[in-house]
Amino acid sequence: MRDIMRFIAQAFTGGFFSHYNEHDYDTDVRKLQSVCDGFDTEAVLIGWNVNAPYENFILKLRERNIKAYLWLPVFSEYGEDAACAVDYMGEKHKRAVSDADDDFTFACPGNQTNIELAAGYYDKYFSGHGFDGIFLDKIRYSSFGNGFRSAMGCFCDCCCAHYEAEGVDIEEVKAILGMPDKGFLVPDGLTGLRYTFENSLIDGFYRSRANLITSSVRKTADMFINKGLAIGLDVYAPPFAYLVGQDIEAMSAFSDYIKPMIYRVTDAPAGIPYETRHLVNEMHKNGCGIGGRLEALWEAESLADAVCFDKQLRLLKEVSCDIYSGLEINKADFCATDKQYVNETLQAIEASGIAGCVLSWNVLAETVNSSVFNRTTCFSY
Ligand SMILES: [Zn+2]
Repeated sequence: MRDIMRFIAQAFTGGFFSHYNEHDYDTDVRKLQSVCDGFDTEAVLIGWNVNAPYENFILKLRERNIKAYLWLPVFSEYGEDAACAVDYMGEKHKRAVSDADDDFTFACPGNQTNIELAAGYYDKYFSGHGFDGIFLDKIRYSSFGNGFRSAMGCFCDCCCAHYEAEGVDIEEVKAILGMPDKGFLVPDGLTGLRYTFENSLIDGFYRSRANLITSSVRKTADMFINKGLAIGLDVYAPPFAYLVGQDIEAMSAFSDYIKPMIYRVTDAPAGIPYETRHLVNEMHKNGCGIGGRLEALWEAESLADAVCFDKQLRLLKEVSCDIYSGLEINKADFCATDKQYVNETLQAIEASGIAGCVLSWNVLAETVNSSVFNRTTCFSY
């Protein structure tokens, strides 16, 4: 008999240096306990405000035999402490800060100082709290949500040296990115979870970008593995992951679990409707008519539909670590989630046989769960 679907809850305590109101603590604990009890949750991903009372949260979770993973960004959110990414025109990436004050500006992922930031912050702010593991977020290049030039990745000296070492003629890449017709950026095929490109220069470039992210995330993960911590990764939904440099299969070799953010109704960064719109618009503005091509490769009418979701889950099941599909349960203007969407998504996850689901992206904010959703009511079929 197949194992029962497992649940993890995700809790956002605020950005690194946000104020944490201690009067919120009792309410936050009650919300966490309610979700954990309702879904029989095995772990909580929590972060990354340095001022939140993690020891107390962790003690409460331990009473229920629930693990705590520190949710920590890697290549974004570090402001002045991080070295900027540079675009193919030689300019620093523009800052990208969302309405919710979330920083989506991406630093260079090849820079050793940047690679060491997460572990440095952990040592400085989080190491005494008793976390069981670490959950690494923002392990990618910019997406098209930050504009075309940022989405092409980092072209600083150290990143270019990496591409060149892997046989990519980076001057040639910069040259063709300057051409008005950029149809060569349309993926030609899908092999496992990776896209292939007919243009061999671009195919090699995308492979090299992904190798760089894999290598840098592995270095980051190793610093935490050496501290005895388990490793989870937050990645984009498969139709976008490889385009932001994430080779999910390669990264599964050194991770305990991966959470693909298959957010099918979220119109904000990482959400499929948002990423699809920005990718199509930015490509079109830059001489690349991609209309319908990704949908054809995923054999679906929409990248957000149930057919595409099932195909993603089928391919994800083949990787080397557990997969917990991220499911948005937050009620927010830009997130059209509801009971039916949550129910259908949970049923598809259960049917796929992957490990389970991460209740995302913040169970401390208003959600559609608690009294309405729990393990029993979700599985009324
Ligand atoms: Zn770089």
